[in-house]
Amino acid sequence: MLTRTDLRGRVPSTATLRATLPRAEMDVEHVLHRVRPVIEDIRDRGVDAVLDYTDKFDGVRPERVRVPAAEVNRALDELDPAVRAALEESIARARRVHADQQRTDSTTQVVPGGTVTERWVPVERVGLYAPGGLAVYPSSVVMNVVPAQTAGVESLVVCSPPQAEFGGLPHPTILAAAQLLGVEEVWAVGGAQAVALLAYGGRDTDDGELLPADMVTGPGNVYVTAAKRHLRSLIGIDSEAGPTEIAVLADGTADAVHVAADLISQAEHDTLAASVLVTTSPELADAVDAELERQVGRTKHVERIRTALTGQQSGCILVSDIDDGVRVVNAYAAEHLEIQTADADAVAARVRNAGAIFVGPHAPVSLGDYCAGSNHVLPTGGCARHSSGLSVQSFLRGIHVISYTEQALREVADQVVALADAEDLPAHGQAVTARF
Ligand code: NAD
Repeated sequence: MLTRTDLRGRVPSTATLRATLPRAEMDVEHVLHRVRPVIEDIRDRGVDAVLDYTDKFDGVRPERVRVPAAEVNRALDELDPAVRAALEESIARARRVHADQQRTDSTTQVVPGGTVTERWVPVERVGLYAPGGLAVYPSSVVMNVVPAQTAGVESLVVCSPPQAEFGGLPHPTILAAAQLLGVEEVWAVGGAQAVALLAYGGRDTDDGELLPADMVTGPGNVYVTAAKRHLRSLIGIDSEAGPTEIAVLADGTADAVHVAADLISQAEHDTLAASVLVTTSPELADAVDAELERQVGRTKHVERIRTALTGQQSGCILVSDIDDGVRVVNAYAAEHLEIQTADADAVAARVRNAGAIFVGPHAPVSLGDYCAGSNHVLPTGGCARHSSGLSVQSFLRGIHVISYTEQALREVADQVVALADAEDLPAHGQAVTARF
């Protein structure tokens, strides 16, 4: 089922690998020209425009954008107890991991009388997008809200698309997750409309104020991504999340049943999702292919998964040895990377580029999607080469606070003047000498 590329004995350069490895193409530029007028219309006409586009793209027109508190409470009251318990476990584990990411201010005494303090200050108001098109993602509410709350963000609003079958409210599990997390504000809006409304704010149909956000985070489809790209100077964004990806680096010790199940689990997200197997073992590749054929037919979303696995973004790459396998996965920089090899810890330690690494036979990506405690909003499309997943740090700004005494300034005045003159900016130097 997976298209096979044989790189045994001839792994090309990293640059060639990056250009040729299977990868989903999400043509954000292509939809930008359609998203831009939507954003401008929402800037000009506010909620009226939001509701018009929601009607068009979501097939429902909610009575208002802000979900009434009673509906959010009701969603939690009516939540299946097993799902509630699972969400509570997911939240507790995520809180434990993210608490350890908290930053503390640091003060450096540069010279006697001269200090620089780095003060970590949370973003004031954040909009968190929880997708709700093909699937609903209460887990994404957890993964966005927990680091923002841990960072100390005071004002949070969760946005998720309204669902026709729930009378124009977001999916009840999204509402229940928000309530469990203590988020009081939820908006029924999805796609580019959500990002635009978060950026500009507006007045709801009941005249309630929808305050703009300073930052918007969370994964979404190509329209969400295009809107984030277009508005990114007005608002901060986390990253442009593309279709999800899993790469599995495996040798002959891996269990083909598990590897196939894990490749399928990510293909289930999206027809553009990428599932890539990198292996030293042609026997394992054959066995995984046979398992994929066997397991895909038994899944609920057969067509979506089959399209993703047979798409140009998915495939199997044969390599001579684990060294070459590590080169390939480092060039690929997958959002999720599983290591299913002998001595998996040592192999994982050699990986430089990945959004998250799942080590050994008992750490499938699904664990990280929900309940490992790690964050599942991760860099896609090779961005793991330069970016990290969502964390407490994503919601903090490090402000430098500079404090110098007269004597400390006097001691360095000549150097400031020399550098200012070298840059032909003499007024900079005069701003120092004017004090003496
Ligand atoms: P979504 O909420 O991102 O998009 C649904 C919205 O798209 C709708 O509300 C609608 O307004 C808008 N829309 C639909 N068709 C449109 C059109 N023709 N023109 C303009 N707007 C339109 O939900 P989705 O579509 O299911 O996408 C979710 C994505 O998020 C998937 O690709 C999934 O893989 C990804 N995801 C990523 C992560 C991660 O951590 N990277 C986590 C969860 C989900």
